[in-house]
Amino acid sequence: MPDLPAVTDLAAFLTASPTPYHAVAEAVRRLRAAGFTEQGETEPWQRAAGGRFLVRDGTLVAWWQRDRAGAPLRIFAAHTDSPTLKLKPHPDTGAAGWRQVAVEVYGGALWNSWLDRDLGLAGRLARFDGSTALVDVHRPLLRVPQLAIHLDRGVNQGLKLDPQQHLVPVWGLGDPWAGEVVEFVATEAGVDPTDVAAHDLVLHDLTPPAPLGLAQDLFAAPRLDNLVSVHAGLTALIGSRDSDTVPVLVAFDHEEVGSASATGAAGPLLETVLTRLAGGYDVRDAVFAGSRALSVDVTHATHPNYLGNHEPGHRVLPNGGPALKVNANQRYATDAPGAAAWARACRDAGVPSQVFVSRNTVPCGSTVGPIIATRLGIRTVDVGPGTPRGGRDGLSRRPAVSRSASSSADLRRAPPAGVTDAGGREGCACRRRSSTTPARPLTPTPGCSARSR
Ligand SMILES: [Zn+2]
Repeated sequence: MPDLPAVTDLAAFLTASPTPYHAVAEAVRRLRAAGFTEQGETEPWQRAAGGRFLVRDGTLVAWWQRDRAGAPLRIFAAHTDSPTLKLKPHPDTGAAGWRQVAVEVYGGALWNSWLDRDLGLAGRLARFDGSTALVDVHRPLLRVPQLAIHLDRGVNQGLKLDPQQHLVPVWGLGDPWAGEVVEFVATEAGVDPTDVAAHDLVLHDLTPPAPLGLAQDLFAAPRLDNLVSVHAGLTALIGSRDSDTVPVLVAFDHEEVGSASATGAAGPLLETVLTRLAGGYDVRDAVFAGSRALSVDVTHATHPNYLGNHEPGHRVLPNGGPALKVNANQRYATDAPGAAAWARACRDAGVPSQVFVSRNTVPCGSTVGPIIATRLGIRTVDVGPGTPRGGRDGLSRRPAVSRSASSSADLRRAPPAGVTDAGGREGCACRRRSSTTPARPLTPTPGCSARSR
């Protein structure tokens, strides 16, 4: 790994976080080390100034408590979950001499990306007494083998996968027996198997986060969607020193399945915490009106092999800075005043930014931003770092903070196509133009191949 502390720390966070429960546990470990203390959900509200966090399953809320109520809130929202394969309640299965593990697809997984990889197993076990135990079997344990090309000659014309039939991982030979998986996992966790009443267990990719590329200026890792944002928000919260506002980090579970749960963005948890932070129902509306939320989730960097899937006038480029996400149909919550606040923040921080909007023929996804805006009425802006693909894997350039931001000369350089830099300059759309091209409007350069592909 190159000597890039932010990337090294991100890699450690990703490795420690194979599930939302582990991501929350790792975040809590870091918060405690920074002096934050826990606010129990059933305990009286702690009003003394200081860092606090509250945990509900795979969701975390953390904030700096002020010694006076009424300060505006500055909310950073992300999500802890990623598409995966989740074990069914009775996972022991098999066929034709193989022992297998029955799974459900969780979220919008790219099914083929789960084939032919070494997979670990992680999650939580729930005991009859109501307590839970985390477990992470972080070694090659399972694999979903793809059918050999000799038995599927048409596969390169289109791979068709039936998730019930074709995504069942193998993990041994012989006949399966009821209770084997739970017994194995409980033993791994140091839990008496007879104490285990239920489980939330998922598979995870064992490929370690790593830099790659000619100059090692790319970084690939599982679960970048959206742990890269959780990591950024956590780092920002711990380092926050502004005493005029109340910084809040919320990292939700269940975004990948629509957010409708007790721990998802559509649930009541954030509203409950913010109401208490604001000083109660009597005063919260005024506080909410002066508050802002930043919904941070990865966005689509322009894929070099699929230029036609992207909106040509708003290409998000690798290492071009985080992208503001805009959608007329409110799949993203950004509006013009919110976009202006984002532009102001980027300018003040000296960070370049870009704009993502989808093609009219390729509807975009959504995230927690519109849900927060709908539930709370707080002005919300959707943004995200760019990766070529979402889901289980992401691939992105090094975060700008790791190298580009370290050089003021880099920041002064005119941005690439589609990029608006910290000073509000916009890059030339022509990729052939020098990177030191002075500011000019973002209009297509006649005959420019970079725009017409
Ligand atoms: Zn996401």
